[in-house]
Amino acid sequence: PDDHPGSRALFERALKVMPGGNSRHTVYFPPYPVYAAKGEGARVTDVDGVSRLDFINNYSSLIHGHCHPEVTAAITRQAATLQAVSLPTEAEIELAELLCARLPSVEQIRFANSGTEGVMMAIKAARGFTGRRLIAKVEGAYHGSDDTAAVSTYPHPSKWSDPDEGRGVSEPGSGPGAAADVIILQMNDVEGGRRLIKRHGAELAAVLVDPLVKNLGYRPASPAFLEMLREETRAAGALLIFDEVYSLRLGYGGAQEVLGVRADLTALGKIIGGGLPVGAVGGSAEIMTAVFDPRGGKAKVSHGGTYNANPLTMAAGAVSMRLFDRAAFDRLSGLGDRLRKGLAEAASAAGATARVTGAASIVGLFHMSGSGETFRDMAKARMENPEAGRKAEHFFRHMLDNGVLMGAPGFFVLSTALTEADIDHVINEAHVAFSTLRKAAA
Ligand code: PMP
Repeated sequence: PDDHPGSRALFERALKVMPGGNSRHTVYFPPYPVYAAKGEGARVTDVDGVSRLDFINNYSSLIHGHCHPEVTAAITRQAATLQAVSLPTEAEIELAELLCARLPSVEQIRFANSGTEGVMMAIKAARGFTGRRLIAKVEGAYHGSDDTAAVSTYPHPSKWSDPDEGRGVSEPGSGPGAAADVIILQMNDVEGGRRLIKRHGAELAAVLVDPLVKNLGYRPASPAFLEMLREETRAAGALLIFDEVYSLRLGYGGAQEVLGVRADLTALGKIIGGGLPVGAVGGSAEIMTAVFDPRGGKAKVSHGGTYNANPLTMAAGAVSMRLFDRAAFDRLSGLGDRLRKGLAEAASAAGATARVTGAASIVGLFHMSGSGETFRDMAKARMENPEAGRKAEHFFRHMLDNGVLMGAPGFFVLSTALTEADIDHVINEAHVAFSTLRKAAA
């Protein structure tokens, strides 16, 4: 289709200088993605002048939508004062204070530039603190691009080992040793996980867990699974790392506050930077100090980074987190509830098999019914329901052509810039999309 000539021309130009025209695999969709030109509040306008409601919000980072006036003012002020410097600044103390006050288990924090780095530094900190090698993680859980964190993130049905052995698969491009340092748990398998942690306890540095895994259809980690992880890591002398890069959206104080589980270390990113590049690792003062305090010689784990705690990100982050107070959090969660309810009603009105998942400002929509708990269950369900992928594509296209930018696999991530009327627009379009799907199937 040539309904986006400007985007098509840019894609063709990009193909000459970037493989697949791309620096970020998630932003591609066939035949070519639309190119963004301008963002304003809840809306993004493409280069062909089409304006859409943004329901991806840069994979979560834009908690207040595009160019919130107070965030823009903070960035502009900072840009005119100090952009980068090889000295510490007050701006980083301010954001650190805000986050330490907000997250019960985070007493001290250090900043980096991406969630990938936040997770990577949490893993290094756990290894440095315990002097141990192994990291346990959930199969299929995405934690960024670090070799260790990336083990067994994507489906490898031909290489799947016995889940009781917990052996992982290094991702292509990772060092072949990566998988040897990782124990793979199955999501919400309490007794299987307990056995693996007990078996490897003496060598285990940490368990890394995201309480709401996107690749698992936003199916939450069960309270029993998280309690088991807390109990067994403590018994083994290993650390519990929460990846709250995404799940910080689940509660004012993150998923930890909602779930009542206290992590030893927490990886952060996305919304804490006010839309600018950011990552962080935080945790108890005991662990953070033991590992990262450089006073009195060399820190146990070295942590540098030319752009760590850069003043622009710190300024944008502080304003954004202040604006995202409990009232803003509650209002946004209400919009999420409205969307989940509306999508479920639209599916049932059309007699469609769909599952609406997520919590707070994160909403998942999957075109099949229950698909089990684990990554393997989901991969199997996907293979058995090839039409689910086609439905998702139809749904995404319908939304794209009717003023809504949603995540192609089937998700919506909300911003405080959205209104109830915006949510209702999506729900109305969902009714249309589901009914055209039904007619196509008839
Ligand atoms: N962990 C989780 C749970 C994430 O969702 C992401 C990014 N989608 C990351 C880590 C990596 O963050 P970044 O893209 O900033 O490196």
